Amino acid sequence: MIELQNLIKDYGSLRAVDTINFKINEGEILGFLGPNGAGKSTTLKMITCYLTPTDGNIQIDNYNVYEHSKEIRNMIGYLPEHNPLYLEMTVYDYLKFVAEVRQISENDFNKTLRDTIKKCGLTEVISRPIKNLSKGYRQRVGIAQAIIHNPKILILDEPTTGLDPNQIAEIRELIKELGKEKTLIISSHILQEVQAVCDRIVIINNGKIVGQGTTEELKMSNQRIAKLNLELIAPETELYTIKEYLPQIDVKTIKVNGENVKLEINYPQDKDYRKDIFNFIKQKDWTILEMQLHTSTLEDIFRNLTSGGKNE
Ligand code: ADP
Ligand code: MG
Repeated sequence: MIELQNLIKDYGSLRAVDTINFKINEGEILGFLGPNGAGKSTTLKMITCYLTPTDGNIQIDNYNVYEHSKEIRNMIGYLPEHNPLYLEMTVYDYLKFVAEVRQISENDFNKTLRDTIKKCGLTEVISRPIKNLSKGYRQRVGIAQAIIHNPKILILDEPTTGLDPNQIAEIRELIKELGKEKTLIISSHILQEVQAVCDRIVIINNGKIVGQGTTEELKMSNQRIAKLNLELIAPETELYTIKEYLPQIDVKTIKVNGENVKLEINYPQDKDYRKDIFNFIKQKDWTILEMQLHTSTLEDIFRNLTSGGKNE
């Protein structure tokens, strides 16, 4: 388990990471979501021991970042933002170099390399110089260098930024595969990204955590009202009877054009009233032309949380 405890990082007078706390359980895929400048990369650099915290602690199993930097680095694979690679090297030479740095023995190297390139889909490009590879393949090389020592934790900082939609889909597939065997932290400023691959999301803004939970939980905790738009053929004078039948719901008349009426119905989203509403309308022998449910998406929540937390 990884645990961030009251973690703080100052750059001079700027507090880039401001007293954050969260835990990542073994085997989880955690999405670390926030707009640019939120403090994501700084946090990840502290977890990977590239930066020392100003205050607070990071505990990984029985190790902490102050005393056990070497052990922690061995447990973690890290793909930094902008994926720094040696462009002149071939994929093979680069991975051989990384394996040496990671102190993988000559004996183990061939098998390790074979497993890694297979996992990352690099077999066809193994003898090509990295500078000749597409951005999608370069990202695979970046992931390969991160997993070559078989770490149980993998940290990917904005792994799909700058890729085209096909490349994004491929890298996401690879991330999902890796998530089956490793604990994963993926940072992103794109909501759909973390929604697509993560079990749980931590949202950060201005160095502070502003929301966290599973996608479902985040939806629940922020959204109290479901909005149902209805278009009916019904006598206007009879519309109030819906409210009598279902006192829990709030009915607003939006537009009336003869017998063609538009309604907006609001109710607490913990119960779905659509069936009751349908049955009532059927019993009245009215006609439903349209029924549309709007629930707030994580996107709304993300926008709310990162724009100063204004709720409706
Ligand atoms: P994110 O990865 O979420 O975009 P960063 O962690 O890179 O955010 O940056 C958080 C804040 O810290 C930003 O305001 C950024 O300008 C600042 N920052 C990042 N790195 C440095 C640094 N080396 N020196 C000074 N300020 C920095
Ligand atoms: Mg960053």
